[in-house]
Amino acid sequence: MSHVNLVTGGAGFLGSNLCERLLNRGEKVICLDNYYTGHKSNVQEFLDNPNFELIRHDITEPIVLECDRIYNMACPASPPHYQRNPIKTMKTSVLGCMNMLGLAKRTGARILQASTSEVYGDPLTHPQKEEYWGNVNPIGIRSCYDEGKRVGETLFFDYHRQHEVDIRIIRIFNTYGPKMDPFDGRVVSNFIVQALKGQDITIYGDGSQTRSFQYVDDLINGIVAMMDNDTFLGPVNLGNPGEFTIKELAEKVVAATGTGSKVIYEDLPSDDPMRRKPDNSLAMEHLGWEPKIPLDEGLLKAIEYFKTVV
Ligand code: UDP
Repeated sequence: MSHVNLVTGGAGFLGSNLCERLLNRGEKVICLDNYYTGHKSNVQEFLDNPNFELIRHDITEPIVLECDRIYNMACPASPPHYQRNPIKTMKTSVLGCMNMLGLAKRTGARILQASTSEVYGDPLTHPQKEEYWGNVNPIGIRSCYDEGKRVGETLFFDYHRQHEVDIRIIRIFNTYGPKMDPFDGRVVSNFIVQALKGQDITIYGDGSQTRSFQYVDDLINGIVAMMDNDTFLGPVNLGNPGEFTIKELAEKVVAATGTGSKVIYEDLPSDDPMRRKPDNSLAMEHLGWEPKIPLDEGLLKAIEYFKTVV
């Protein structure tokens, strides 16, 4: 069956990669974006496709349209972006989720929420399983995003329990790849852009904090598998379990680009999680999903992309 998919944040990094996959499946896509952090250039190549519609819209305002699947991807996701206007970030998670859930309730659409590993905060268990409730500071500089996404999950389950809305929740771990904003301030984009431009590579703190980086194509496979699943609501972790320190990432980027850039150390921002790694057993059990692209391979593809945009 061919679907009419609404993708909020469809001109962002993940949203535009998702639009492409859905269009390649021959489905219809309505893309919403307010261009706060997304870019029209990410969807330019789809504008001639009759199955693609682009609407400038901010999901903190209601919208009336017809669709049978909603992917709620809209929200600034890099720390400098979501901290630039934290109240707006919270509104996007709370009002945005309520508007999209209301739309799902009226249309009967299945709706997927792009949640995040940030719901685990600075985790006290390792690797993180979905059953872990997290260790989140409610009043820090990351809270607008972390707590916003946590409320998003609450709203999804309340709409499901109270109104039988057909929900899916994924928790996305650090993701990189083509169409990532080169200046969004995240570690993979920062390091690659700095390396390509011969600028200093900025490690925050001593670089011993870890992250697990997944290539975007793996994530998109997980998102569509989740949406196509008729019974499993989640929340489910979608991330690559390969865990690296930020210092190791810097070394990999230096080696892969052959840059002469030197590594410098800057202050660690507050509430920066020390360790992060997904436990993927639930995704494997319910979706048969696991990431396929290791960091070394994905970094080379990402470097090729960033060469074309910086
Ligand atoms: N980071 C860094 N240098 C940078 C950007 C980020 O060392 O130029 C660190 C950051 O402090 C964090 C990790 O890299 O420990 C991942 O940061 P990112 O903003 O990519 O994502 P998040 O913290 O949300 O996982």
